[in-house]
Amino acid sequence: MSVHIQTLLMVLVVVGMVVSVSVGAIANRQQRDGTLYWALGLATNAMSYLVLSQFDTLGQTVAIFGAAFLRACAWAAFAEGLYAFYSRPAPRVWIWAPVVLVFLSLAILVDHLALRVISNSLIVIAQIFLVFSIIWRMGRDSPGRGKYFLLTGLVMALSLSLLRSAVAIGGDPTAMVSPSPTSLIQIISALVVLATMVLLSIGFVLMSKDRADNLNRQLAICDELTGLANRRRMNEVLSSEWVRGRRSGQALALLMIDIDHFKHYNDQYGHQAGDECLRQVAQVIAGRAARAGDLAARYGGEEFLLILPDTDESDAKYLAESLCASVRALDLVHPHSPGSMVTVSVGVAVSRDDLYRDAESLLRAADEALYRAKHGGRNQVQVALAALAGGEVAPRAAAKLVQLTWRRAYESGNAVIDAQHQTLFSDANKLLNALFGGPSGPELDKLVQAFVADIAHHFQTEEAIITRAAYPGAAEHAERHRALLVEAEALLVRFRAGTVTIGELFQYLVHEVVARHILIADRDFFPSLNSD
Ligand code: GH3
Ligand code: MG
Ligand code: MG
Repeated sequence: MSVHIQTLLMVLVVVGMVVSVSVGAIANRQQRDGTLYWALGLATNAMSYLVLSQFDTLGQTVAIFGAAFLRACAWAAFAEGLYAFYSRPAPRVWIWAPVVLVFLSLAILVDHLALRVISNSLIVIAQIFLVFSIIWRMGRDSPGRGKYFLLTGLVMALSLSLLRSAVAIGGDPTAMVSPSPTSLIQIISALVVLATMVLLSIGFVLMSKDRADNLNRQLAICDELTGLANRRRMNEVLSSEWVRGRRSGQALALLMIDIDHFKHYNDQYGHQAGDECLRQVAQVIAGRAARAGDLAARYGGEEFLLILPDTDESDAKYLAESLCASVRALDLVHPHSPGSMVTVSVGVAVSRDDLYRDAESLLRAADEALYRAKHGGRNQVQVALAALAGGEVAPRAAAKLVQLTWRRAYESGNAVIDAQHQTLFSDANKLLNALFGGPSGPELDKLVQAFVADIAHHFQTEEAIITRAAYPGAAEHAERHRALLVEAEALLVRFRAGTVTIGELFQYLVHEVVARHILIADRDFFPSLNSD
């Protein structure tokens, strides 16, 4: 093959400068991401061939000296570029020592062509290894094709240096420097250099692009302040986990978390301190999303959502309680909070057995439970009442709302209390019937109102009786009554406003107030009545 060496070298210079300018053009001056170093390396590399092409004017020694020096500088710039790209401090001594070594070896071995070629090649090999090791160590976890282009370019450059050393050792080192005739090794070298330059430039540009794409993806799904998933990501995951849960039949738990009295915290300490508090609470929440598939998201403002697939109600409740405790353990002072520290309220809703019609209903149920946690005094966990948040009762859920059956074991020993308890049981059953196909609209409203009034009346009677019976926990029990009624009234208001369904209201009145209170809490005073 007959190629003019000068033409070959000029091709390298032109291609080298074009790729250098192209890479430089994508550099962002505000970001020290190594692009400028990389462009500089490509330009210096191209310059080394320009110097080499000036064999006749500069003389052999100066041309080779200059070219080797510039090439070493180019590799040092590549190393600098990669350290900057990975945002790591560059070990300058290791990077630039080879440049000094090239300079020295050229000066010392000025009259020994073979040794000079070998020592130069060895130094370049060391430099290539340095660049290789940077990508290997720091780029291991970074995705994308860019680094493979770079690695291919490095392997080619390495092979070329090894070839040059082999030729120098094996016989004819002049083959690499003689301007005429153009040797085969020179042609191969030029082609390899050409390919290497293209690979190194495309590789670096791809690496930058991959990283920018990755960052954009992150920004699109992350909340900037807390680093948790944002609302958009939350919706995506909620939808997909909902579908997965439906298919697999596994429970899907949602924990809706809200910082208590956070407005006061901001007012007291300022917005920046508020942001820091949000970050710390968010970290605790993120720590609970421990399993693959779990997601911690910022729902908005100071509200967060934990999506926990394959988590049943008791696990979800335990998790929520421990989350509350962990936030308290942060020990962030909050003078306007009852415990004088930052606390959270948590609403838990767990989807199972077709209880909820869709993911939206499940989310609403968690919100509803959170509302009750707030209303119940904050710094606590509430679990969604069997969810009928969709408005209509799903058939399988309806089967869960069993009728209440009075048993002798429920008797307190006081005839008045027992009669009232039994009436409440039967009223509750009537309400249950009304819920399925009975009266609706104003009539149903009247029924509910009468039921709440009956409960209030019963509470009054019961308080009077247990006070008279000198039950020591009378005051506390009355306080419980008050809290239950406040909650019932609040739910009634929300029911009328359309934000709570009849199902939820029913679940609260019948199961929380009548069944759970009468069957569990009231048992505490039974002995006091029986001792009369
Ligand atoms: P509650 O216990 O009922 O939840 O009371 P609260 O004060 O926490 O609730 P409210 O919804 O009244 O106030 C929420 C506050 O959260 C108001 C808003 O200034 C603050 N907030 C929302 N987003 C941010 C944020 O990104 N940074 C800061 N610092 N504050 C925020
Ligand atoms: Mg809030
Ligand atoms: Mg709040």
